[in-house]
Amino acid sequence: MQLQHYFDGKFQTFENENYVGVFNPANGQKLATVPMASKGVVNEAVAIAKEAQKKWALVPAPKRADYLFAIGQKMKEKKEHLAQVLTKEMGKVIEEGRGEVQEGIDMAFYMAGEGRRLFGETTPSELANKFAMSVRAPIGVVGLITPWNFPVAIATWKSFPAIVAGNTVVWKPATETPMMAYEMAKIFDEVGLPNGVANVVFGSGSDVGTSLIEHPDVKVISFTGSTATGRKVAELGGHHLKKVSLEMGGKNAVIVMDDADLDLAVEGVLWSAFGTAGQRCTACSRVIVHKDIKEELEKRLLEEMGKLSIGDGLDESIKIGPVINKAALYKINSYVEIGQQEGAKLLTGGKILKEPPYDQGYFYEPTLFTDVAPNARIAQEEIFGPVVSLITVSSLEEAIEVNNSVQYGLSSSIFTNDINKAFQAQRDLDTGIVYVNAGTTGAEIHLPFGGTKGTGNGHRDSGIAALDVYTEWKSIYIDYSGKLQRAQIDTE
Ligand code: NAD
Repeated sequence: MQLQHYFDGKFQTFENENYVGVFNPANGQKLATVPMASKGVVNEAVAIAKEAQKKWALVPAPKRADYLFAIGQKMKEKKEHLAQVLTKEMGKVIEEGRGEVQEGIDMAFYMAGEGRRLFGETTPSELANKFAMSVRAPIGVVGLITPWNFPVAIATWKSFPAIVAGNTVVWKPATETPMMAYEMAKIFDEVGLPNGVANVVFGSGSDVGTSLIEHPDVKVISFTGSTATGRKVAELGGHHLKKVSLEMGGKNAVIVMDDADLDLAVEGVLWSAFGTAGQRCTACSRVIVHKDIKEELEKRLLEEMGKLSIGDGLDESIKIGPVINKAALYKINSYVEIGQQEGAKLLTGGKILKEPPYDQGYFYEPTLFTDVAPNARIAQEEIFGPVVSLITVSSLEEAIEVNNSVQYGLSSSIFTNDINKAFQAQRDLDTGIVYVNAGTTGAEIHLPFGGTKGTGNGHRDSGIAALDVYTEWKSIYIDYSGKLQRAQIDTE
């Protein structure tokens, strides 16, 4: 299959474009080829989106929302197909693929509801016979840059609030996972979304990403990806005075206190550490454990890790799929070597799976380290694979300090049956998301999603908070006194 860009309501190909392959990380099978757009193609797509936005902004928001309802409905009808494509190109197990598509469906219906809200405020004026209100105004063309680990959900978190608020979007998906973007383009087309409202341009971050950020008619950049790339996006975006929303890396921890339900804690750690083969921005990659239960937790984790099935995510019995590509596989392995050099104790795992049936894909053994120093590199840096570090502490205060000692601040979790500890933790854990008696993953779409410190720059995806990225507040004063009234001066 040869993918095509989608803009102006048409699937488009251009002469002399380079194509690269899209491969299934479970078995190396070539799934498609994808074009790499030039700056000229980006410029064309942005020009189309700019023209379309002038009309789209004038469509009443509840009518804009009708298209989102239709998109959500279409995604629902195609859910199984979308999940299969997702698992093939990204590798996550099919159950999680279905979950990710469901997240997109939920977002479509939730943001469609915003078409009848998009609330502003009315407030009294300090002057007589004067009316004051604030409304959300669309901004223009929004550039979306998304990562491969959630090829569809993240794009829906960004594009649906942007669209319902009256903006148009140009979306550059990750090169590793363009097929889901292509599937979404087909859905935009099938529901008759007006031409130019949602556009997809394939290509590299350095070419297409940079061209979007530099383009004077792209007013907002919404980026999700690594902190290193996010920093570059922010620097360039800052230079061009763009509104830039960044969702970046994580180094998330589960705290297990001595009074925790250990069965539940083990389940929570396994699901959040090894789900999506550890390639979630919210994945648990540290377990901060109270010294009194450390040995018991290690024992139970080892027992349960031994039962995890590894393989092609399309097989319903598999719990852990491949990692995205060879570079990721070797990066993960290099961190395991670093952990051993740093003196951490490797309890299990730590190897690339090279024998059949794993030899054509990119599979890594679920890996557990213990006795890891809180400041060790494997406890500080994002590994983005199925590797977990156990760190021992003596108190809740120490656990919180260790949790907060990393440069990231996305998600954290605590297992405890002591309500006082739970409340203290939710207050003091310096992350954008906190779970009590659940792992570090499992965000719901109607709450804000994002993190503190090196994870973000103060914006949020998802929830009503996302609307703040895609709208400007406009304050409107209507004076019906028939005379000039001067605020702060004509006060008597
Ligand atoms: P990445 O930073 O390599 O790439 C992300 C996107 O940026 C891709 O589309 C890529 O093509 C593009 N890009 C690369 N260089 C660019 C440049 N110079 N200018 C503009 N765009 C550029 O990240 P990835 O490997 O695709 O994704 C994994 C990372 O994403 C992890 O660090 C993970 O934690 C993070 N992530 C964060 C969240 C969150 O919400 N906080 C969610 C998912 C993933």
